[in-house]
Amino acid sequence: MKMSEMFFTTLRETPSEAEIPSHQLMLRAGLMRKLASGIYNYLPLGKRVLKKVEEIVREEMDKTGAQEILASALLPAELWKETGRWNVFGPEMFKLKDRNEREFCLGPTHEEIFTDIVRNEIKSYKQLPFNLYQIQTKYRDEKRPRFGVMRSREFIMKDAYSFDKNWDGLDISYKKMYDAYCAIFDRCGLKYWVVDADTGAMGGKDSNEFMVPSDVGEAEVVYCDECGYAANVEKAPCVNRAIHAEDVEKEIKKVATPDVKTVDELMHFFNTTADRFVKTLIYSIDGKAVAVMLRGDREVNITKLQNLFKASDIEMADRNTVESVTGAEVGFAGPININVDVLVVDDEVAHMKNFIIGANETGYHYENVNYGRDFKADVVADIRNIEVGEPCPKCGKPINIARGIEVGHIFKLGTKYTEALGATYLDENGQEQPIIMGCYGIGINRTVAAIIEQHHDDRGIIWPMSVTPYHVIIVVASNYQPEQIQAAEKIHDELAARGIEVLLDDRDERAGVKFNDADLIGIPIRITVGKKISDGMVEFKRRDKAESIDIPINDIVNKVIDEINRELA
Ligand code: ATP
Ligand code: MG
Repeated sequence: MKMSEMFFTTLRETPSEAEIPSHQLMLRAGLMRKLASGIYNYLPLGKRVLKKVEEIVREEMDKTGAQEILASALLPAELWKETGRWNVFGPEMFKLKDRNEREFCLGPTHEEIFTDIVRNEIKSYKQLPFNLYQIQTKYRDEKRPRFGVMRSREFIMKDAYSFDKNWDGLDISYKKMYDAYCAIFDRCGLKYWVVDADTGAMGGKDSNEFMVPSDVGEAEVVYCDECGYAANVEKAPCVNRAIHAEDVEKEIKKVATPDVKTVDELMHFFNTTADRFVKTLIYSIDGKAVAVMLRGDREVNITKLQNLFKASDIEMADRNTVESVTGAEVGFAGPININVDVLVVDDEVAHMKNFIIGANETGYHYENVNYGRDFKADVVADIRNIEVGEPCPKCGKPINIARGIEVGHIFKLGTKYTEALGATYLDENGQEQPIIMGCYGIGINRTVAAIIEQHHDDRGIIWPMSVTPYHVIIVVASNYQPEQIQAAEKIHDELAARGIEVLLDDRDERAGVKFNDADLIGIPIRITVGKKISDGMVEFKRRDKAESIDIPINDIVNKVIDEINRELA
C-alpha cells in the first residue's frame, strides 16, 4: 500500500478530550475519529487492527468447535419482557418504536435472542451440547462513555452462548472457553489476570473476568503474589480477625460531642484512630430503609450489599430519610434505637471491641460499645471492600490491589434464561429439562485499546506483530532520488508477493515527518531506503528497539520474513 494513496492523516496535537494513552493514540495515529459522545468511525488503519483481533477470536473460537452465527442488532421488546430484562436494563438500553408503535431495542447483549433461537430448534438431548457465537455490534447508552472505545456506546462484542444437558457438561463447555480466552489474549500480546468475578444477585455458578493490568482500568483487582489468587474487588471476600482482642469490655458511655460529625472530626475529638469507630450509613434498597454499619475507615462494597438483598436499586438515603430514621441531624447515626427496616452489620464490626458509634441524638456519641452486648443486627455479613495488606482469602498472606481493564467475561449462567423462555429438551427418559447455559463475551474494541495501553511509548503505538495493521513500513528518505523510490518499490512488491502486509511511505514529506508517523502508527518493522542504497544497503529497525542495522538489499526480504515468522510462531 502506497501511503501517498492511502486515506490517512495523523494529528500532531493530542486532542484535549482524550485523557488516556490509548484514546490519544488511536486519534493521533488516525485509527478512528469521533462521531458523537461514545460513538466512533474507524478509518483504514483502525479497521485493519479490528479485523486482526476479530480473526484471532474467530480462529480460537472455531478451534473449540463453537459455531458462528449472526443475530440482528435490532430486537423486539417481547423477548426482553419475557425474561423481565426490558425494565431491569433501565436507561442503558437504547429503546425505539417502529412505524406501527411496536417496541424494539438495539441489543446491549444477546442472551434472550440466542435462547430464543435455540428453543425453536432444539427438541432432544441428542442435539446437545453446542456453542454458538457471533461477532457483532452492541449498543449501550452508558452513563459515562469515556476513554474512547474503552467505554463507548456502540462497540463490537464477540458473544458466545453454550447449551448443555447438565452442569457437568457446562463445566466442560466453560473450560473450553476459558482456555480459548487465554489463547486469544496471549496471541493479542496482552498480559492479563483471570479473576474471580461476581455472579450477581440472580445466581449463576462460576464467573471469571479477563483483566488487563493498567492504571487506566476501571476495575479493581485483588491479587496475591504468594498463591496466585486473583479476584475483582467486588467479589473478594474479607477475612476478619479479632481487633484489639486484648481489651476487656468496658462500660458503655454516652459522650457529648457537639458539632463533631465526620470520622476525621471524631478522631480529633476522641484523640484516637479511625479503626476505633463504627459508622452507620443509611441506604434506600428497593424502597426499604437499611442501616449499614462498618469500621470508620472502611468502604461499603455495593455489589456485596446488592447480592445480600438480591436488590435491583440501591442508593444512599437522602437527608430527610436519615433524619427521620435516626431522629438526629446527619452525622450522629447509630444502631441503638434506630428506626430502619433492616440493620446490617459488617462482619468485621462483630470482631471489634470498645468502639465509638453515633447515639441517634444530635451532639452525642457512645463509646465503649460492643456488638452483641449493646446492640444486635438483623444481618451480620461481609459487605465491605477488602484493602491492601489484608489477608488473602485463599492463603492468608497480605494481598495487593491494582487496576485492570475488563476485556473478557465468562459466566456459568445455568437455567436463568432457559427457564424464563422455556428452552427445554427431552432427556434420555423422555423427561423435559431446561437447557444449561453459559455465556462468554469479549469486547473487541476495548481489547484493541487495552493492547495499546500495554504497548506504547512516548512516540506512539508499538503493535504486537499479531494485530498490527501492517507488518512493515518502508520509508523512502528522499522522494527526489529515483534510485531510492525504485529500490523501495521493489522491496515493497517482493514482500507483498510473499504475503507480507507492507506500507510504502512515498509521501512528499521530509524524512523526519515520515519517521515520526511510522513511530506514531506503531508498525513493528521499519525499512529505510536512503543514501546507503548506492552501496546496496538499506536500514532495518524494529519499532520496539532503539538501534537500527544496515542490511544488504538482497537480504532484506528474507530478514523481514524471518522476523515476522519468528514472532507469529
Ligand atoms: P463493564 O463492567 O466494563 O461495564 P460489563 O460487565 O457490562 O462491562 P459484559 O456485559 O460482561 O460487560 O460484556 C462483555 C465484554 O464487552 C466486556 O468484558 C467488555 O470487554 C466489553 N464491553 C462492555 N461494555 C462495553 C463498552 N461500553 N464499551 C466497550 N466495550 C464494552
Ligand atoms: Mg462484566
